[in-house]
Amino acid sequence: MASDALDLERFFEALRAPKRVDGVCPFCGWTEERWREEQLLGCPLCYSVFSDVIATKPEPQPS
Ligand SMILES: [Zn+2]
Repeated sequence: MASDALDLERFFEALRAPKRVDGVCPFCGWTEERWREEQLLGCPLCYSVFSDVIATKPEPQPS
């Protein structure tokens, strides 16, 4: 319970003041490189951090 609250607090803190480290999510540490390789993101904040990167990539095609 307490750890969940702490985690959320950390998340919103990252949202409010995104430390835009180049190509790295400030919350989970996911990298732009990893997005390019795996087409996956680590956490909801990644969608915000990498929004411009994601927008330039085509959607993964369903197989
Ligand atoms: Zn993330």
